[in-house]
Amino acid sequence: MPTQQQRTAYDEAMVYMRTAAQRLAMPPEYQQLIANTYRELRVQIAIRRDDGSLFETFGYRVQHNGARGPYKGGIRYHPAVNIDEIRALASLMTWKNALVDIPFGGAKGGITVDTHQLSKRELQSLTRAFMRKIDMALGPHRDIPAPDMYTNAEVMGWMMDEYGRRHGHTPAVVTGKPLDLGGSLGRTEATGRGVSFVTQWASADYGVKLRGGTVVIQGFGNVGSYAAEFLQQGGALIIAVSDERGGVYNAEGLDIPKLRQHHQAHGTVVGFAGGTPVEGEKLLLIPCDILMPAALGDVITEANVKKLDTHMVIEAANHPVTPAAAAILWQRDIRVIPDILANAGGVIVSYFEWTQNLQQFYWKEHDVNNRLGEKLETAYRAIHEIAAREECSLREAAYMIALQRVYDAVRLRGI
Ligand code: NAD
Repeated sequence: MPTQQQRTAYDEAMVYMRTAAQRLAMPPEYQQLIANTYRELRVQIAIRRDDGSLFETFGYRVQHNGARGPYKGGIRYHPAVNIDEIRALASLMTWKNALVDIPFGGAKGGITVDTHQLSKRELQSLTRAFMRKIDMALGPHRDIPAPDMYTNAEVMGWMMDEYGRRHGHTPAVVTGKPLDLGGSLGRTEATGRGVSFVTQWASADYGVKLRGGTVVIQGFGNVGSYAAEFLQQGGALIIAVSDERGGVYNAEGLDIPKLRQHHQAHGTVVGFAGGTPVEGEKLLLIPCDILMPAALGDVITEANVKKLDTHMVIEAANHPVTPAAAAILWQRDIRVIPDILANAGGVIVSYFEWTQNLQQFYWKEHDVNNRLGEKLETAYRAIHEIAAREECSLREAAYMIALQRVYDAVRLRGI
């Protein structure tokens, strides 16, 4: 077993799977089979920049486990993207999709790029070039990408179009598309909405104050901004929010609709008049009832976990808490709502979008939102019950459910 220092992101992601496998007494040969990824693509991407110069980078698509259905997971554009991180995130998608019981395996993709350095034309060109390099591994019954950090509905529209040029019009090949291209009502807000649902159930069950309680959110993108909006509508005080450039704080609660307007106008929460500045790194240490990392992974670590002053951590981002920090939170009796449940709303509504595309029959928004709530609540109640029975963390309970489902599918398919 590698030491903490040597562990890769993928090793870290596997820690929980291994613990669950032991609890389930899973045969070691199956543990290895399920831990390993199925397919990994690393592709060179080169485009001409607006000034005529050459821009070269690499893109990735990792398919982790497809026993339960076509591979499914987001595409991330970020300078820190590498194969190891994508591999780890692909495995998280396997467990997430199994936990909320949607018929998909797990995948993830990304490009190593700082989108702030590219023009819109360059971004589109990069996206299309990436799609041409990976499209042989995609398809509505093979692998279906979706948005993640620094990608959005517009990028998904370009991906769908590029795939369609080579394979014929195929809306179900990507989800999180614009509505006019076959996107689903409710998809943009889905992850944040799901985060807010789970926060409501868990805070009620574990005696954490939500109405009138204080919430601190790291990240004001798709997930963080909608989670903030829905939680504020439910009566919570969102006292601090940050993005990559810095944060804002207001002990009385930030006005989230006004903060969104400011963000739309300036591309950052920094400079918002309805609060005082707070350094991004200090944000996580602000005393609050609920702490919500909704940006990058590995932000709550052994280095800062003992300084957190909160009653509950909601993992709106993927893998924001390292396993070592999670163990300390458990000892400190601070509940952690795991990523594979907390942010599963996005992939659940992606599943609904895919279903609507395949049927060419579109649902009303309240049907989407109600079915999202039903799926998430079923998963939450199951986890809650197992955690209470086994006296284990909610994450361990979630992994036990997910892994059992993947194991059953692998075994039933035969070798
Ligand atoms: P996004 O690109 O819309 O927003 C990312 C946000 O994080 C931005 O506000 C950005 O400024 C901020 N950020 C970046 N670096 C930061 C830093 N160092 N400190 C503070 N803030 C920083 O991305 P998103 O879609 O909201 O994704 C956020 C997280 O949620 C990711 O971990 C992603 O994997 C996860 N997630 C997203 C979805 C989805 O449907 N979009 C679904 C499940 C999980």
